[in-house]
Amino acid sequence: MRPLRTSGTTTSLRTGFPPVPLCSPWLSSLLPLLVFVLGSTACSKGTPTAPADKAAVGAQVTESASTPATDTTSPDSGPLPQIDSKRTFQYIKEIVAFGTRPMGSENHKKVENYITSHLKGDQVEDDAFTADTVEGKFPVRNIIAKYPGTKDGIIVILGHYDTNYPLRTIGFVGANDGGSSTAILLEYANHLRGKKRDGYSVWLVWTDGEEAVRQWSETDSLYGTRHLAEKWEKDGTLKKIKALFVMDMISDADLNIDRDTNSTPWLLDLVYQAAERSGVQSHFYARAGAMDDDHLPFVKRGVPSIDVIDLDYGYNNVFHHTAQDTIDKLSPRSLEIVGNTVLEAIRMLDRR
Ligand SMILES: [Zn+2]
Repeated sequence: MRPLRTSGTTTSLRTGFPPVPLCSPWLSSLLPLLVFVLGSTACSKGTPTAPADKAAVGAQVTESASTPATDTTSPDSGPLPQIDSKRTFQYIKEIVAFGTRPMGSENHKKVENYITSHLKGDQVEDDAFTADTVEGKFPVRNIIAKYPGTKDGIIVILGHYDTNYPLRTIGFVGANDGGSSTAILLEYANHLRGKKRDGYSVWLVWTDGEEAVRQWSETDSLYGTRHLAEKWEKDGTLKKIKALFVMDMISDADLNIDRDTNSTPWLLDLVYQAAERSGVQSHFYARAGAMDDDHLPFVKRGVPSIDVIDLDYGYNNVFHHTAQDTIDKLSPRSLEIVGNTVLEAIRMLDRR
């Protein structure tokens, strides 16, 4: 779970999610971008290439993170990347079948094994440690799979696999929140495995402890990525990262990826351009808002990062962090739209 920052305050999504945008789908298809400022009911017009809220993120994004290396709009005749969305959807079903999967639980261990069982023969590493939290000590394990490329540099794709700890008592299964992110990374591993990458190395990271154990705060959230970012800062890995993508809540049947104002502007634009290449841009950026998610520990350290997330899940966000986050709310088509778009964005980065 992550709160939304509105007007400098922190609002819990469970207790105080702002009103759903009043922008209708037909209207958003007529206008290039409708910026919905979370916390208000107003829709205003913007452009996809002009960051809607540059000032809001300027303090957090370094010069290197905010400057694209080259133009990425040059045409390309190559085939667009294609994931197997049915297989990805099946992964979500299998993950959900384990039940609620908070840190430290038996089901969590089962999902760890499920993930690693799909990575046999791949270069897999752990970033494992013990988190000291307000609810006690928990084992935390980020699982990293590395697929080497020919270019110097790394593209990182993160997705969390833990489910919300406080909601374990209601049997929260997180089909979208935890399930979809785990599944798309497994599918990306299929896509990357056994091929010579003519581009940057790609590292997939199934992150742990994304969710708060009690109530979201800077110290009670993002346990896995805070640890990983610190570790990668010390060992020099961060300097090699060309771009970092977070995939979270990407399978909502009613797909509307948010324009996250905490993300790096040129990466937001790159993803939009990638979406345009397959004509699915109407699913992107109708709303804008500041997301607190697994990318933040990296954003704070100047790594170009983007949170690919649809945080408006069900009418008035009614499915988010509730027992209603179940498989019937999801669509394989949404996985396909997001999954292919991010792969295309990576292909565009590889060509730089
Ligand atoms: Zn969550």
